[in-house]
Amino acid sequence: MDSEPITTNRTRGTQAHYQALVNSAAAAILVIDERGIILDANPFTHRLLGYHPQQLIGKNVDCLMPPEHQGKHDHYLRQYITTGQANIIGTGRRVEARHQAGHVVPIHLAVSEVWVEDRREFIGIMSDMRALTQAQTRIKHERNQLKTIINAIANPVFVRELGGQYSLANYACLQALNVEHVEQLAEAIHGALPEGMRETLNALDHQLTLDGEPVHVDVTLRDGRTFKLAKTLIRHVEGEPYAIVTVGYDATPLLQAKHEAERANQAKSDFLSAMSHELRTPLNSVLGYAQLLQRSSSPRLTETQRQYVDQIHQSGRHLLTLINDVLDLAKLEAGKTVVNVTWYPVRALVSDAVRTLLPLAQQQHVELDECLPANLSGDLYVDPTRFKQVLINLLSNAIKYNHPQGRVWVEASQPSSTLTISVSDTGIGIAENRLNHLFEPFNRLAAEQSQIEGAGVGLAVSHQLVVQMQGEMSVKSQPGKGSCFAVTFPYRASTRPDDQGCTCLRVSQPHRVLYIDNNSARQRLMTDCFEDWPMLTLYHAHELSLAEAVALASPPSLVIIAADSVAATPEQIQAQFGDKPLIVLTDNPCDEPHNKPTLRRLSLPLSSADLAEAIQLLLEERL
Ligand code: ADP
Repeated sequence: MDSEPITTNRTRGTQAHYQALVNSAAAAILVIDERGIILDANPFTHRLLGYHPQQLIGKNVDCLMPPEHQGKHDHYLRQYITTGQANIIGTGRRVEARHQAGHVVPIHLAVSEVWVEDRREFIGIMSDMRALTQAQTRIKHERNQLKTIINAIANPVFVRELGGQYSLANYACLQALNVEHVEQLAEAIHGALPEGMRETLNALDHQLTLDGEPVHVDVTLRDGRTFKLAKTLIRHVEGEPYAIVTVGYDATPLLQAKHEAERANQAKSDFLSAMSHELRTPLNSVLGYAQLLQRSSSPRLTETQRQYVDQIHQSGRHLLTLINDVLDLAKLEAGKTVVNVTWYPVRALVSDAVRTLLPLAQQQHVELDECLPANLSGDLYVDPTRFKQVLINLLSNAIKYNHPQGRVWVEASQPSSTLTISVSDTGIGIAENRLNHLFEPFNRLAAEQSQIEGAGVGLAVSHQLVVQMQGEMSVKSQPGKGSCFAVTFPYRASTRPDDQGCTCLRVSQPHRVLYIDNNSARQRLMTDCFEDWPMLTLYHAHELSLAEAVALASPPSLVIIAADSVAATPEQIQAQFGDKPLIVLTDNPCDEPHNKPTLRRLSLPLSSADLAEAIQLLLEERL
């Protein structure tokens, strides 16, 4: 174009202005005649199409068209000239031009018609659309990618604009609501929601637009399916909210599985508690009558018969322990175990447990030592019966998984607001990779291959009991060297003047005590207490009929009864046992005041000091 003007009928000044404008324009400008021959071109043609203006002048404009449009241009021009029917002239549109190098360039083409004297010419302005096309392609690509990702999500996702219109829904969403297009979503959702739910969701959406805090809500549809929904606000780049995206999760199978599991668990608990009665009652009878046989003097049993009865008794006790452990576990898992935590003298707890395990330690040739500091006289905040159960389990394991001539010892940490009681042993230890499985029920960590008896339930029960009493249990172990199990509970220094809860009992002559209780944990505690009182012999019966048989064989001096084990009143029981002194163990000792000197009520959980005091009073001092 250089020095040649585009138009010739302009003044020189105006001509110069136009020339500058055309030369510096960021668009390619071409002038063509009626036949399509290029008369003039500006320098931008080089930037846009690779041609210098001189290379274009004199050529037919169809050299700038992609091969598929070449030739058509002549036809358009002729058509316009003969019919006046414009295809592109007077308007603009996006088309493609051909670069000198052969590739296609996206452009916007605007063509206008000019009359120069009697000649008709056309001016074409080609704007570069490459950047815009690239940006549009990128957006299209990203949209496509997003759409693919959203559709690939197995969870329902939908977007609802704040005006209420649904603008996006993925396949999973359409499928979940059984529709084909997002336009059908509003109606489908409306039909699926139960009465009142739509209002609730609208209120949540409204709240979300106000505070922007993501919302989580569970929705159960009319057809019974439950979806967990997470709603998030979507904002324009400027920050203005315009829609809410909801991602759903069909929790129905999970909830069904949970209900199934709960039902199965309930069935298991029901079964176990039924079995508890069915198994324990006859087993207690077997044990009770075996005890009677062991003690019977007329007719005297032969040595072999006595051995048989001993064996029945020993195996029965073992079986009872197993049943009790399994039932304890079932109850704990079903959340049915109640623990009654109270402040209780730590020394009495530890001494009782150690005393209970001394016979086992002796039998296994293991030394068992209580190494509590002499001045430790405070209380632990525990359920005494349950705490003893835990300690007895730890001690019996420490003895069982030990070697002859090994050692087990119980220590206490420095007391503060908590106290840690640890049971250490010089036994076989536990491999590090097994420690994680220690509290799994029925997992014996390969001990099942040994001769050592057990069911792998004790530690699981102990651990859960400790947790339920708000305590902590920890373990350290070294294979071949030994283990240390520790439990930690709240502790307070003693508030009693004589602080240890005196469990001493001074009776001048031997007595038989008949104890009626069907609670295994209490039975264990009671047996422990009586081990301290050699002048007293404890006869245990879990039910009244057995107690009567025992009383006939060996008349007792005193009867102890757990109120929840029998249906009879204390008066009826006393009448049944010849008005013997009676101790009633009850949850509510103050409920029924009485002034009978031969009757004492003691509160549960059982305190050995209170028991000693009551026995002393009833057996000796009342006389
Ligand atoms: P079990 O009836 O088998 O003794 P527990 O639940 O009491 O069941 O213990 C689970 C397992 O942990 C045991 O079988 C044993 O392998 C291991 N274990 C527990 N205490 C000790 C210990 N003091 N030393 C070594 N191993 C132990």
